[in-house]
Amino acid sequence: MKPAQQEISKSSTSTISKSSLEPPKWLGPLGLSRFVAIDIETTGLLPSSDAIIEIGAVRFEGGVVSDIFQSFVNPRRPLPPAITVLTGIHERDITDAPLFDDVSQAFLNFIDDNPIVGQNPSFDIAFLTASGGTEFRFPGRTIIDTGELARIFWAEFPRFSLTNLCSFFDVSLESAHRASDDARATGEVLVRIISRLPSRVWNSLASDIANIAAQGHHRSEEFFKSLRAVSARIEPPVLDNAHALDEIPLLSKIELSELESGGLFEKKLDQFSPRKQQIEMARQVLSAFEENHTLLLEAPTGTGKSFGYLIPALAWSLAGEGEEKRQVIVSSHTRSLQEQLLKKDIKDIAFATSTNIPASVLKGRENYLCLRRFRSAIHDIDGRLSDGDRHRLLPLLRWSYLTKSGDIGEIGAFHPEKEPLLWSLVCSDSAACSGPTCGSHRGDFYRKAVDDSRNAKVLLINHALFSTDFERFLGSTDVSRRVVIDEAHQFERAVVSASTHAFNLKSVRIVLSRLADERSSRGLLLRNAKSKLPEAVESELLSLDILTKALFQLARASFASAALLAQKFTAEESKQRLLPGTHLVAKTESALQNLIERMQELHSRLDSLLKDMSRLSDSSSEHKDRVLELRSSALALGEVIKAGELTTGCKDSDFVYWLELTGQKNSPVLSLYAAPISIGSKLADTLWLGRTGTVLTSATLALGNSFDVIEKSLGISESSSMIVQRRILSSPFAFNEQMRILCPTFLPEAKDTEQHIIGVARIISEVIARYDKSTLVLCTSYASTIELAKRLTSIARRRGRTLLQQQSGRITHELLKTFREHPGSILIGTSTLWEGIDLVGEELEILVIVKLPFEVPTDPWIQARSELVQSMKMDPFYAISVPACAIRLRQGLGRLIRHHEDRGIAIVTDSRLVSSRYGKVLQNALAADVIGMGSEESFFAEIEEFFSGKSR
Ligand code: SF4
Repeated sequence: MKPAQQEISKSSTSTISKSSLEPPKWLGPLGLSRFVAIDIETTGLLPSSDAIIEIGAVRFEGGVVSDIFQSFVNPRRPLPPAITVLTGIHERDITDAPLFDDVSQAFLNFIDDNPIVGQNPSFDIAFLTASGGTEFRFPGRTIIDTGELARIFWAEFPRFSLTNLCSFFDVSLESAHRASDDARATGEVLVRIISRLPSRVWNSLASDIANIAAQGHHRSEEFFKSLRAVSARIEPPVLDNAHALDEIPLLSKIELSELESGGLFEKKLDQFSPRKQQIEMARQVLSAFEENHTLLLEAPTGTGKSFGYLIPALAWSLAGEGEEKRQVIVSSHTRSLQEQLLKKDIKDIAFATSTNIPASVLKGRENYLCLRRFRSAIHDIDGRLSDGDRHRLLPLLRWSYLTKSGDIGEIGAFHPEKEPLLWSLVCSDSAACSGPTCGSHRGDFYRKAVDDSRNAKVLLINHALFSTDFERFLGSTDVSRRVVIDEAHQFERAVVSASTHAFNLKSVRIVLSRLADERSSRGLLLRNAKSKLPEAVESELLSLDILTKALFQLARASFASAALLAQKFTAEESKQRLLPGTHLVAKTESALQNLIERMQELHSRLDSLLKDMSRLSDSSSEHKDRVLELRSSALALGEVIKAGELTTGCKDSDFVYWLELTGQKNSPVLSLYAAPISIGSKLADTLWLGRTGTVLTSATLALGNSFDVIEKSLGISESSSMIVQRRILSSPFAFNEQMRILCPTFLPEAKDTEQHIIGVARIISEVIARYDKSTLVLCTSYASTIELAKRLTSIARRRGRTLLQQQSGRITHELLKTFREHPGSILIGTSTLWEGIDLVGEELEILVIVKLPFEVPTDPWIQARSELVQSMKMDPFYAISVPACAIRLRQGLGRLIRHHEDRGIAIVTDSRLVSSRYGKVLQNALAADVIGMGSEESFFAEIEEFFSGKSR
């Protein structure tokens, strides 16, 4: 057996040298003259079923490393290959390592009584406690989470993993996911944080944080108390109310000729070069605006699409004469593209023209903070949240003082989708807004965004917001409007997804939690009952609190029994379509019926109560706020009931219904969904009705030379009042010279899943062995990514290449960053990597597409769409599946060539591309010719020839 402690040494690895960095002056006053940073590596994420494989701890004195502890731990279970890929730790490292019990005392001795520092230390402590007992909870000890500190004081950072924090704070991290190196880096990050804290904190902020941390015994309570003391003399920053931007003139006019050679953009922007496709696009877009046409425009990669529509949008909207107000709405698929347009493209136009651009972004109301609700929640004025909840709101505190927009998208420290209940209590909400009587003079961020959007000449929104209310954006008669729908190939799915109703335990619990806390005397109903109200009202509030608490229990039981029932019908599929009139629908409905009825009862009694409360003579703002919160909660409850009625009844034939089972086999989690089958007629009646001057654009919009598929799916039909023009711009790239698309037909067929993946792994191994080039492998399922990663690990290691595997839920940009930073890496992934990622030049030279990206035929929405198409006497495979596959394949292949100088090989390891009947249709949709390769020899000869620069 190896010694418990493999190495204890005075470290020479610290990147903070004593000479280059004085210890931060606050280190001592904050009680951190000496602290120990810890980290562990594990076989997985669950302390109940996974185990520790490595422990690391690093002692810091005066801000520098003074000692290091490291030990492997035998987990007494097999090491998953994915962990070896992630950490570089192998089975051989841990088989002879000590057991946890043999190493735990040395670890405790090393930590001694010092404050403990970690990056998300709750994870480490949960594993340590599961292995060694409650002693490892370190009761009474100060524990500092570097991630939490960064979230509170640098909320604007986009990401907070250790790798990201090291990069932001300029700390080296050579062996990420190795315990002692991660611990050393975590400690150094803390030192950097402390040295910069004086410029990020002020007295009232520190005092608020200390007070909130003192309630509920935050593990850093003592640290925050000390922070309050050291920052007592620091005054809050003066909010910048100066209108510096007003001094810069607004853009008043722009010509398309600025895009041409010798134009403003070429002169002023380093990255800009005139492109004939972009100029052509801008002309087409302007002409569609001026002549009121609907334009379908395919603009291939490299066109410079954003400027191709933004410049004509500005040219047209600024040219309004006299009283005529003009506005162009630009709708894009993702909020990130919205941000990119504003922060990159509009900024570039502003820079080049030395003006302010009259453009703004508008998001849905729920994206903006309500300062009144936030203050009430975080300072516990309304008594609704637990201490732990309020600790989780801390990352919003500093930002809430400083933000001018209140848009939660400004910060990366808080994600509404991860904290839906908390965010629903503090975000802007029309039902909960006190309007003109609100005491928060700078809190109406949403109203300000709406005002800005009215004055904007170019308004940036996303498809989801646009589709919720076309009338709101287009209905006004005093403004002439035109529309650009960017990423139009995603528009149908975005509209369907925005119109999909979901009903599950989570949605029910969230609305119930807005009214009552199941396990405590907190909650809105009880809090109201404690204020001075007439006896009848008080008694009804108490009674509704009891009913709501009972509903938590009923919801759990109802969804659990519906899930168990559903499990019997769903076999291997996690998604099961619900067809009206079937046994499954009847059973599901009956399992959830009682719950829905009791929720209806709660809703109706809340309504009556609200009427009674509104009639009371109490004119205090507290009373008004209470009524508003109750009304907002009642509305949210009404929405969930509506979703429950729709998804369990399955009665509206315009919708497709399905259930989805997730979670463990022995405790499945059930969700019910209802989605519109087709949105064509809805769009025909709303978006297109009497409306022209709309441009739909994307890099992948047409098939062959036809726009039929998108026109049908979006309900676009030419008429006397709607002239439709269709244009496909030529590509600025010479695809047949810049790339090869090879299809090795000698591999086993894709339908033989097992043999196929073995064959694909063999070919990729050979490619890795022969070509030291960055390689992206696109799969159509996570199962394939896992299988390929497993099979390619050893060859990648032998060749010294970094192998990266996208994992479910793992953030794509972090993977891409690592991929870019390690030339010659192999990245295996799915879903989000198929589109929207930019890898230029040597960042990507070999692309493998494992299987043709057909949609899953058993997907309920696809099934329902197919039936609809069939009822129109068409073949759904050719009308839906093949076109969707072609667009996706083009998107995937589009990752390879992003620039004039890019060159690369695409390998499609699915022989159906050349051997099937529909293969020709797919090939015709692609930018370059497909070459079927009948033997391994010719396949590698073709690659050799291409990379050696010889042309075919
Ligand atoms: S005006 Fe409305 S949204 Fe704004 S802070 Fe007040 S209550 Fe909140």
